[in-house]
Amino acid sequence: MGQLNLVDVRKRFETFEVIKGVRLEVRDGEFVVFVGPSGCGKSTLLRMIAGLEEITSGDLLIDGKRVNDLPPVRRGIAMVFQSYALYPHMTVFENIAFPLRVEGMAEETIAERVNHAARILHLDQRLQQRPGALSGGQRQRVAIGRAIVRQPKIFLFDEPLSNLDAALRGDMRIELAKLHRQLRATMIYVTHDQIEAMTMADRIVVLNAGEISQIGAPLELYHKPANLFVAGFIGNPR
Ligand code: ADP
Ligand code: MG
Repeated sequence: MGQLNLVDVRKRFETFEVIKGVRLEVRDGEFVVFVGPSGCGKSTLLRMIAGLEEITSGDLLIDGKRVNDLPPVRRGIAMVFQSYALYPHMTVFENIAFPLRVEGMAEETIAERVNHAARILHLDQRLQQRPGALSGGQRQRVAIGRAIVRQPKIFLFDEPLSNLDAALRGDMRIELAKLHRQLRATMIYVTHDQIEAMTMADRIVVLNAGEISQIGAPLELYHKPANLFVAGFIGNPR
């Protein structure tokens, strides 16, 4: 299970309210994409879901259980960032295995999980190499591998492809869609790329200045934008 519920979630930094009462239900196995202009609060929202940022008020529920005060590692969530900090001196295998080593998992289980993730991500031939020998796309896949081995119920992606060139982004988009079908996990994906949003999402959440402007299936938003902001954002590819 990987159902997520945000009930009037708010975030204030000092006196500045960055997230202004977000209500959102994400179904188990759903692929939800957050879009919105830079600074509207997408990363802050993901970080609160992951447990990396405290929630000022409101409730966060995973599978019906309130998790506001649960530490990140106990939430069953893994997050993949835009700047994937791989360890340059470690092999791909060790980079992917790292979160499991921190947990003190048995060597055999670690090997099983890393090999499984590497097969899914087409990294099986790269496991003994170091990140410096890989392409940008392969490095990003190592970062995703690190999330997969933890077997989370929910994956959070914060603009994971924005450092890649357009062709590679297209390939990775297809890979991620495949990954979603294979793992059947819940995924929340932040992007400012409209094509990514339109092609990958079950539902798109449009954020503006810390509030949800509209939630809907891609075509719904495209044909029936709730307001000019959504129309400008979804209907106007840049
Ligand atoms: P996005 O990911 O949509 O670009 P962010 O969630 O990174 O937006 O940021 C939303 C707003 O919150 C921005 O105005 C940003 O400057 C502010 N912000 C983010 N983190 C902090 C922080 N730790 N302290 C103060 N302000 C922050
Ligand atoms: Mg961001």
